[in-house]
Amino acid sequence: MEAYFCENCPLAFEIGGYLHWDLSGGTDLLVCTACGVMHRLIFHEARGCHDMQTGTSELFVLPNPIRQIKTVSRDNGCGQQIKAYEWPYEESDWIKVGVFENRQPLDSLTCHHCQSQGKLVSHEKPENEFGLWPVFKNEHGELYCPVCRGLLESLYFEIIN
Ligand SMILES: [Zn+2]
Ligand SMILES: [Zn+2]
Repeated sequence: MEAYFCENCPLAFEIGGYLHWDLSGGTDLLVCTACGVMHRLIFHEARGCHDMQTGTSELFVLPNPIRQIKTVSRDNGCGQQIKAYEWPYEESDWIKVGVFENRQPLDSLTCHHCQSQGKLVSHEKPENEFGLWPVFKNEHGELYCPVCRGLLESLYFEIIN
């Protein structure tokens, strides 16, 4: 999972995927490169851990692009204050907008905020014109904001929710 922040507009989003610990499927966080709204694609496997294609996918969306991310200090348990980012949404803010059979190719999905089709991207897919990922990376390897093309920063601090 990677989190990025645009110094310019100032969009913040998280992107990337992970397999569920019980091998029941996987979750991919996607971002719309047109409007910056985060989506979440959850795949539930139908037949156990040997087939990651057959099952059900559910698509969730957040109501708006995130343009504020709070920096908080908290105790790390050893008396030291560490900096952390706090996302301004709750688990209950995710809105379910679609259920599909099997795994869905990303380019078949529609953004439920701006209605763009084929603009939802994961961290690895699709590659950009230089064969690099994420898609919002230029030929010099620098990351730019998919919405305003401003400089994108990786958020290195711990993300809490
Ligand atoms: Zn931006
Ligand atoms: Zn969009």
